[in-house]
Amino acid sequence: MRMTIYAYPWDLARVGVERALKQICADGISAIDLTASYHPIDALSPREGVSIFTNARGAVYFPPRDERYGRIKPHVHSPEISAIWPETARHAHALGLDLNAWTITLFQPWIRDAHPDCARVFPSGNPSGSGVCPANDDVREFLVTMCEDMVDQFGIKLVRLENIMPVFDFDWLRPRTLITVPPFARTLMNLCFCNACITKAVAKGLDPVRLREIVNTAINSDISEGCSNDHRTAALADDAELRAYAELAMRSSTELVTAIAAAIKGKARVSINAAASYAMLIGTAREDELLGEFLSAADQAELIPGHPDNAHVAALAGGLAPPREISAMIPVVRATGLTGPALQARLAAPEARVQAAVDAGATELSLYNFGLLRESDISEFAASIRRDFG
Ligand SMILES: [Zn+2]
Repeated sequence: MRMTIYAYPWDLARVGVERALKQICADGISAIDLTASYHPIDALSPREGVSIFTNARGAVYFPPRDERYGRIKPHVHSPEISAIWPETARHAHALGLDLNAWTITLFQPWIRDAHPDCARVFPSGNPSGSGVCPANDDVREFLVTMCEDMVDQFGIKLVRLENIMPVFDFDWLRPRTLITVPPFARTLMNLCFCNACITKAVAKGLDPVRLREIVNTAINSDISEGCSNDHRTAALADDAELRAYAELAMRSSTELVTAIAAAIKGKARVSINAAASYAMLIGTAREDELLGEFLSAADQAELIPGHPDNAHVAALAGGLAPPREISAMIPVVRATGLTGPALQARLAAPEARVQAAVDAGATELSLYNFGLLRESDISEFAASIRRDFG
């Protein structure tokens, strides 16, 4: 079983890059997944004395070549931390350790702050406070350029594109949703009505003004009644224009992955995660076709920790020609106090998650996360995987 490990550059800086990478090699781990761009974070590290790293709006963590970029210029965290990237690349190549780029794609509040027109827009007309839209041409140009830039600089083997197919409430900051959002309302709320999405819809002959109106009526009815209604769901699922609008949303993500893969073709592989979002609107069979197209745009599919769609996504990825490899992030979490009881329960048994990933066809396990765990936590867990799965 191939193992990789996620790592933050600021933790490598404190531990010492060479020492950290030698330990990772000694644990039988084949690659390091180093943060290239990241979302807001408050992270407690037990390494080299307790340390807390905070960043409120996300940033880029490698030294970019600014002249390559268009309207969106990389917001670099700091020269000190971004200098860890070339240092890591140098030591990793010397040690025979593969270097992967852990790339947060759309959950980038710093882009949304600098360029509010890039934000995803909920059907209600409210812009997201943290997420940008994969249909936006400037967002696409930025992500393609960023991936190409770092691959060209550092000899990266694999670019992990995290959550490039968004859902409406993914990683909200300090969320407050005290009511249940019924499943069909949730499906509809995943639709984006930013200018880029509207423009693409109009170009296809769709009427986004009408669509937004019927979507909002259905969302409000679902939420006020506290449940989805079969008749209402069927009526909207019968609307060919609305189905086409949902398909455009999925295709936006596919187009972005395709563009990134083309830019780094022959140099680095691409890995993506996926989950079903629009089956209630477009039907499971059609959504599977579109998810298949999405997964086809990449070289590898990643399972999302604890997600109910994992086995389904793995089957879709494994059924492609050629079959896409399956990788699984494994949070090595045993302790209490992660971010709440629900998440603790979901992440409570790393061994069980490893078995579920293996059962789904995973050939790679990505341990999470180097600097957030004690050295012994990683060494013991990696040893157990080597012992149980070879
Ligand atoms: Zn949009």
